[in-house]
Amino acid sequence: MNPLKRILLASSKRGDYLDLHLHTGFSIDVINGNTFIDYMECAQQHGIVPGFLDHFQAEKLEWDGYPFGDESVGLFFEAYDNAKATGLPSFVGLEVDFYDPNQHEDWNVKTMNWLDDHKEDFDYFVGTIHDVDDFTITIPYELEELLKDTPFRTATAGYFTTLLAAITSSMQFSGFAHLDVIYRFCGNGGILPREEAYMRDARTRKAIESCISRDTVVEINLRGFDHPWNTTYPSWELLAEFMQDQPEVDSFFIGSDSHDINTFKRFIPRAKAYSDIIRGKKPFD
Ligand SMILES: [Zn+2]
Ligand SMILES: [Zn+2]
Repeated sequence: MNPLKRILLASSKRGDYLDLHLHTGFSIDVINGNTFIDYMECAQQHGIVPGFLDHFQAEKLEWDGYPFGDESVGLFFEAYDNAKATGLPSFVGLEVDFYDPNQHEDWNVKTMNWLDDHKEDFDYFVGTIHDVDDFTITIPYELEELLKDTPFRTATAGYFTTLLAAITSSMQFSGFAHLDVIYRFCGNGGILPREEAYMRDARTRKAIESCISRDTVVEINLRGFDHPWNTTYPSWELLAEFMQDQPEVDSFFIGSDSHDINTFKRFIPRAKAYSDIIRGKKPFD
């Protein structure tokens, strides 16, 4: 069984709240990050169980000091083992980048091998797309650079093609994170206007359906409320269709995508509220 589903079922049974998308200082986009123990102690105080999802990018494995390179990865496991020794509950996964197979199949192969070698060391792996044509679309100036020569329509088409390839690949992904994150900077204060069509994108719907039919869990990523997008990823409007009939408790997981403990703390009430909705304890609205 999908190990992430097993965790979701057991947690639902116990009535434990989860936030399974947390970044520590082991993510390279985090400066002065928080430790596993910081999050675990905070989570314990606020009645939620943390799940770590640091970034994994195969093309950086050979970089000097990259946290998941052969030389450094031992430090990651040591830190997590020490944190677990406190007895506080937590889970550990990775937010794993998948790349356009037409451009970087070699990186995907490298990823597959690494995940295979380390599957016993993690509770689950979550797939994600952060790049279109080698531009990181979750970083505003990189998206702006991409859009200099590429229409947004073309960029989104490339994004969703890669996403679908990731979902249908043989990579060991138990879940997928922020399915429509290409729209992150669409909205007030962003780079592009937020259009109604983006919120109900048929390709996002197809990605959700594809995940569900393959027993892969879809993240309800709450961090979009901090972005111009100003809703969940996938958009709550689109998720509404899947919430009409009560979804299975293991079809979706909640993630705040926090890169520091203050964001984590700020999102705890929301993480609990959305958990209650997907578990049918609170009506959808
Ligand atoms: Zn991400
Ligand atoms: Zn993340």
